[in-house]
Amino acid sequence: AQPPVRSLGQTTCPYCGVGCGVDISCNGSGRSISLESLTGTPEHPANFGRLCVKGTHLLDTNDTTQRLLYPQLNGERVDWDQATDFVADKIRQVVAEHGPDAVAFYVSGQLLTEDYYVANKLMKGFIGSANIDTNSRLCMSSAVAAYKRAFGEDLVPCNYEDLEQTDLLVLVGSNAAWTHPVLFQRMERARLRNPALKVVVIDPRQTETCALADWHLAIKPGSDVALFNGLLRYLGDHQALDADFIETATEGFAATLAACMPWDLESVASCCGLSVAEVESFYRRFAQSPSAVTFFSMGVNQSTSGTDKANAIINCHLASGKIGKPGSGPFSITGQPNAMGGREVGGLANMLAAHMDIENPVHRERVQTFWNAPTVAEKGGYKAVDLFQAIDEGKVKFVWIMATNPVVSMPNRAQVERALARCDTVVVSDIVTHNDTLKFAHVALPASGWSEKNGTVTNSERRISRQRGLLPPPGEARHDWQIICEVAAKLGFAEAFDYASPAQIFDEHACLTAWQNNGERALNLSGLAGLSPQQYDRLKPVQWPVTESTPQGCARLFENKRFFTASRKAQFIALEVLSPRQLTSAAYPYVLNSGRMRDQWHTMTRTGKTSKLLQHTAQAQLAIHPQDSLALGVVSNELVTLKAHCSGNAPVILPVKIDPRQRRGEVFAPIHWSATWGSHCTLGQLFDGSHDPVSGQPELKHGAIRIAPA
Ligand code: SF4
Repeated sequence: AQPPVRSLGQTTCPYCGVGCGVDISCNGSGRSISLESLTGTPEHPANFGRLCVKGTHLLDTNDTTQRLLYPQLNGERVDWDQATDFVADKIRQVVAEHGPDAVAFYVSGQLLTEDYYVANKLMKGFIGSANIDTNSRLCMSSAVAAYKRAFGEDLVPCNYEDLEQTDLLVLVGSNAAWTHPVLFQRMERARLRNPALKVVVIDPRQTETCALADWHLAIKPGSDVALFNGLLRYLGDHQALDADFIETATEGFAATLAACMPWDLESVASCCGLSVAEVESFYRRFAQSPSAVTFFSMGVNQSTSGTDKANAIINCHLASGKIGKPGSGPFSITGQPNAMGGREVGGLANMLAAHMDIENPVHRERVQTFWNAPTVAEKGGYKAVDLFQAIDEGKVKFVWIMATNPVVSMPNRAQVERALARCDTVVVSDIVTHNDTLKFAHVALPASGWSEKNGTVTNSERRISRQRGLLPPPGEARHDWQIICEVAAKLGFAEAFDYASPAQIFDEHACLTAWQNNGERALNLSGLAGLSPQQYDRLKPVQWPVTESTPQGCARLFENKRFFTASRKAQFIALEVLSPRQLTSAAYPYVLNSGRMRDQWHTMTRTGKTSKLLQHTAQAQLAIHPQDSLALGVVSNELVTLKAHCSGNAPVILPVKIDPRQRRGEVFAPIHWSATWGSHCTLGQLFDGSHDPVSGQPELKHGAIRIAPA
């Protein structure tokens, strides 16, 4: 008998933006290989061997049950040739009859950078529209827009070590203990090592993250801009500005400070629902701390003023010079494993590849020439919420959805369902046989999944890591980049999409970031251009930019006080305090907040497969303050009906969880569950699609609902 073939595979966890390295022991070879056990990669700089409970149970969710194995056309099995012929014919027909803007792709932070690169190249350079947007729009697009306004480019200044080196950690709109657990563990250990490290948590809810906090500011939802405008004024009033930094490295300070003058301590306390003492103690701590990191996530981004909130935070770091130094900076953390990789290759409807701008004719010409493309999109395309509205209005006739389940994850579910039901052609690439979006697919294309896909991802600290293909895709499933390239070839673009491997795509991406880039863009991977397939396969995690002067990558940006605006100076942004758009009223008196549970992920298509991950939270519940439950006359576990002005006719029902940690008048429900997982509620039924006018990111933290016993 042959001795068993044992090997070790190194890859990256597919769940969240921490981007933990994972070691997997494999048994066998070729098509008979199996994955035996899994641990965190000891030397991966994101996690140094640690994994959270979701990562630990990755192999329990990695079987091939409920996998989509064959292409389907109107529910019937077809071969790949028939499926891709149909897709290409439909694109060609729609472009001919209605123009390129009647075609759209809606993609995902689950795609690898190489998948994203070819999808963006096909849409923006060859179909000729910018209608490619992504579920990352729901995750971090407000932070992206804020970075672009302040720094001139989508640049995250910090790295994970800054969380350990800081004197003050301010977590805003983040329940990191549940949503980014391995980073939270790093914060806990930093606190143990350095008792002088202080932690402030700013969140309407008292979450598990508050266990680490010296102060929890239970801020009124949506009032963050007032809080940080007030902090800027306080810094000015208390000689806590870095005058030299403001003078040499920034622009727009005077007007921004003037816009903050109405925000004295009393006004801030009143607007934010806090006491003056709470506000003052946070401000004093920030002003006196030699360093500070403001770690922010969905509570900031998923808002109708998310971009302003992020800029309000950035303003305070610029004014105090707490940026570009160890332990200092504004630090947005993405929800998805490759939200940042998608940004790098232009996977948002308002960006070109390699951080170049659609509005800039020089950039357009540069990208078109590099791709040798027949065209290039000249204006931004539909962002996620607008995209589904455009489909609903019949402006978009063809949509290709890849690796995401927008019927559950998008706001305004009634409109998303109506749009997909009306759309002439809906193509869905996915790994599962059933989800709420696949019901609308005319064409279902089986894609490869985690442990099969091969390429790169970029985590929240700009670190590029390899996700490696250890298993062959089951059935006839193919990699997303292969499917896209096959359709591109059938559209007549074979030469431009003739890739033999993800290594070749990555090389083209790296070359584009470096091409005619004389230091005007920070995203530069010239040091990773020209890798051999073997070098690509062995690529160690590295933080971009990777250039001749930073061959080992770059841990921290802006240490030289040089930014990427036209003047090379960072921009202060003067901000008004705006109300959320979906406001409470007599008819809809409760504020609805939404978020993640510790052990679930997205719409549960992976994590819902193992009972081990349902032990922590078995079902969706509506968390409500005890006095609100008394007023409604409901008790724990009693079913209640929820109604918003956008809910449509489908019933929205949840059991009650009485939770004294909620603020009165505010309720919370998880984002994950849908009818597929036994719930009569998807959150998208209760948020109306209101979104940030700058970033397009939809509001998912401030709905307005009424509640009644079911
Ligand atoms: Fe995976 Fe995120 Fe958990 Fe790390 S923290 S193991 S990346 S889910």
